[in-house]
Amino acid sequence: MARIPFDPRTFGSKRPGMHPQPAPPQADPNAQFRSLNATLLFCPNCREATPARERLLLVLPSGNKYEYVCSYCGTSTGEKIDQDLQNPTLFIP
Ligand SMILES: [Zn+2]
Repeated sequence: MARIPFDPRTFGSKRPGMHPQPAPPQADPNAQFRSLNATLLFCPNCREATPARERLLLVLPSGNKYEYVCSYCGTSTGEKIDQDLQNPTLFIP
């Protein structure tokens, strides 16, 4: 049986003609933040920042009023008014 000489120079070396892929451009951190839907809000009951669930409270002409509730215990941790100015809703009596 012929012994195959082991050459460490060829082991693990880059193949000729293969160029490393250029690193992809850095993703916009703001875009990542925008896609993040879960909001961490401090819950006084859990005594820590917990993922908040958005709950629609009121639909106002100026915007929708949302309430944030703790996803663990259900305590209200905040509220916001989402002003939907780009897509106004017409109220026809
Ligand atoms: Zn809680």
